[in-house]
Amino acid sequence: MNFLEERIVKDGIVKEGNVLKVDSFLNHQMDVELFREMGEEFKRRFAGKEINKILTIEASGIGIACVVALVFNVPVVFAKKSKSINVDGDMYVADVESFTHKCKNQVIVSKKYLGKDDHVLIIDDFLANGCALQGLISIVNQAGGTVEGIGIAIEKGFQVGGQVIRNLGYQLESLAIVDSMDASTGEIVFRKQ
Ligand code: 5GP
Repeated sequence: MNFLEERIVKDGIVKEGNVLKVDSFLNHQMDVELFREMGEEFKRRFAGKEINKILTIEASGIGIACVVALVFNVPVVFAKKSKSINVDGDMYVADVESFTHKCKNQVIVSKKYLGKDDHVLIIDDFLANGCALQGLISIVNQAGGTVEGIGIAIEKGFQVGGQVIRNLGYQLESLAIVDSMDASTGEIVFRKQ
């Protein structure tokens, strides 16, 4: 088991409905030393890629993305969730369906902060069905930039997102891939990587 898998086994809680709660170290209270280790692992896995920007999505990706951005020494931009339908022309816009909240959001990024010269590493906490990632990929494409790779903390391998994104040809690196989890026993099985 790697450092993140060990932490998930120690502190993660398996909930009904295929939800893994990692509030104590990842997306409520945040263990930034763990985030730094994650950043260093992403740096190894994406060595040789010219990355000049990190992109993530509000809200729970932001903490991890900031620490990863420190390790890569590049700026970080987050896609904002927008309730307004009147988004002006200065924004890139994508629709994202939330797995945890079961609702549809528009996410926006200002054209000021993403453009054709950007070589982007997309970072997020979880990958489930891949909607959040597809929205972020769409935003980079609208900007004319390049997706150099995608770094995820926890991929739920029993949901379709990972397969969909890998089939699109992106380098997707998930630090922990959960192949199965059981809410009644709390057991979590990781994919060998
Ligand atoms: P997707 O768009 O891939 O279906 O879902 C990704 C988003 O849903 C992530 O940004 C994350 O915030 C949230 N999410 C999906 N599954 C889980 C889960 O099991 N636990 C938590 N805490 N968040 C999840």
